Amino acid sequence: MTTADPVRVIADLFAAEGAREYLGEPVTQAEHMLQAAALAEAAGAGQELTAAALLHDLGHFTGPVSGHELMEGRDNRHGEAGAAWLARWFGPGVTEPVRLHVAAKRYLCAVEPGYLAALSPASAYTLRIQGGPMSRAETAVFEGNPWCTAALRVRRWDDAAKDPAATVPAFGYYRPLLRQLALQRARELARGAGPGGRPPEPPAHPPARRGHASGAPRLAGE
Ligand code: FE
Repeated sequence: MTTADPVRVIADLFAAEGAREYLGEPVTQAEHMLQAAALAEAAGAGQELTAAALLHDLGHFTGPVSGHELMEGRDNRHGEAGAAWLARWFGPGVTEPVRLHVAAKRYLCAVEPGYLAALSPASAYTLRIQGGPMSRAETAVFEGNPWCTAALRVRRWDDAAKDPAATVPAFGYYRPLLRQLALQRARELARGAGPGGRPPEPPAHPPARRGHASGAPRLAGE
């Protein structure tokens, strides 16, 4: 836990880097993450998973390697970078789906027919830089991760959150949620909670589903 106000720090990122960066998609990174959060909320996700959707790509701005460098061919490991950065304020219910959302893409490319073909051109491009589809051994390890289902849910919202015509709540809508989660985490740490935190939310979907294009939650009007 740090004394910096996480809501202010994150709001500044959304307003600055997030509003400038497109990274190959038709929406800014801020719009993209706000759409992912709206999809999570529309799907009935809990608070931590909604926050994970909202914050999943912050690692493009907070890690040692930027999103720009990713688009130039250098893996910025933004899931890990974002999770490490967010861990100062938030528990694993937020950080682990963030950490694993790129692994979830690699997993779905390996196990779900048609998933890779449905990726946006930018996401298909970065897939190669991020290691390509998982091997069979890697998919087995991923399925054994307790945050597997949560990461896959964030991934579905991530993939659908690229609609230039979508109208979704602004960052300010999520301020109370983030403030509450950070306060909750600070109390957990004060009580001596370990890094493992609570178990993930119960799965709403099996790890992999066929029919990605029709099965993913969609924005109204998308
Ligand atoms: Fe994303």
